[in-house]
Amino acid sequence: MTDSDKAAWQEDAGRDLLRNAGDRLALIVRGEGAHVWDDEGRRYLDFLAGVAVTSLGHAHPVFVDAVSKQAANLAHVSNYFATPPQLALAARLKRLAGTGPSGRVYFGNSGAEANEAAFKLARLHGGSKRPRILSLRNAFHGRTMGTLALTGKPAMQEPFLPMVAGVEHIDSTLEALEAEMDDRVAALFVEPIKGEAGVVELPDGYLKAARELTEKHGALLILDEIQTGAGRTGAWFAFQHDGITPDAITVAKGIGGGFPIGALITFGAAGDLFFPGSHGSTFGGNALATAVSDAVLAEIESAGLVDNAVQRGVELRQAVDAIGSPLVSGCHGQGLLIGIRLTHAVAGAVAAAAQQHGLIVNPVNDETIRIAPPLTIGDEEIREFAELFAAALATVESAVLLDADTAVAATDPEGVTA
Ligand SMILES: *Cc1c(COP(=O)(O)O)cnc(C)c1O
Repeated sequence: MTDSDKAAWQEDAGRDLLRNAGDRLALIVRGEGAHVWDDEGRRYLDFLAGVAVTSLGHAHPVFVDAVSKQAANLAHVSNYFATPPQLALAARLKRLAGTGPSGRVYFGNSGAEANEAAFKLARLHGGSKRPRILSLRNAFHGRTMGTLALTGKPAMQEPFLPMVAGVEHIDSTLEALEAEMDDRVAALFVEPIKGEAGVVELPDGYLKAARELTEKHGALLILDEIQTGAGRTGAWFAFQHDGITPDAITVAKGIGGGFPIGALITFGAAGDLFFPGSHGSTFGGNALATAVSDAVLAEIESAGLVDNAVQRGVELRQAVDAIGSPLVSGCHGQGLLIGIRLTHAVAGAVAAAAQQHGLIVNPVNDETIRIAPPLTIGDEEIREFAELFAAALATVESAVLLDADTAVAATDPEGVTA
């Protein structure tokens, strides 16, 4: 694309936005339910939901109502004061996470801030006797300096070295866990399904083993449920599929339904580690953010959207299978966090073709299309997805097959296939 082909908004973005991310895919001006519209009036089925964020879809009446009512009443007063929505949300999160009475909640404004708080929790627990913090290779925990140290992707860390000290990355196997765990470990960080790595599941029994081994060695088990939480995987939090109790979880993304908020939720004694003055955030847990999140979670509860995530997740996988594309090798993930694995490294081309057909999906790596639609989707959205995704796959299939023909012709010295 030459500069003169660029729309005005693309020129603005190219000139005014920091170049920390790639070119924006479209200028989105409106959303409703599972759809968004761009500035040229094109409609897209949004099966990424802002990366597992808009759990109720766009402009849901419950979300709109909560924002407007709370904004008209009280938005922010600083953490020198408590507010009713903040207390209501803390109580709800404790109940949904199953912490029991001893659970505690800290509020921040993003996933990274929730994980920063968790990192400090690990340090408070570790003191000088436990300098080691273990985290999994390829797990994603955020991009701030602390959370980047936790994130197990050397390429992401490289431009920003040196990292915050003390974090060691281990393979996501039971063997590595057993080999590395000792009494000098302060905490083990685990992302229950590695979303950014391509929706990659842990080996069977991993969380149970992680719980047993951390307990045995006196280390904290801290789960990053920022992407997997808020009903996304068909349980309120992914660890609940495994029937374990962690020491802490971090949440963000889907709990706000589009309003920025994150939280650290502690279980039992881990909640006693922070002391007055040891951590905080000006915006964290303000009345507006917590009122919206509380309303979003209440709606997920009363509308039965966690069960819907289970059912629709199964139906979506069936729909993908039914397309029968030679480009698809299968689906990974749980509930409505799904990684569609491809047989060729063409995820970018599939996502681009999908956008052309009016469907937003995410090429999370070269071989994987990630979908994380709103938890509210029903028959109609699944039918539309199947149609648009099949069309996108067909577009790319012909290109891949043509390529294959070309490749055969080029390596055929006898010219037999010509
Ligand atoms: C998105 C994400 C984060 C970071 O959250 P931000 O809100 O972008 O800071 C951390 N961990 C996981 C598992 C995530 O998916």
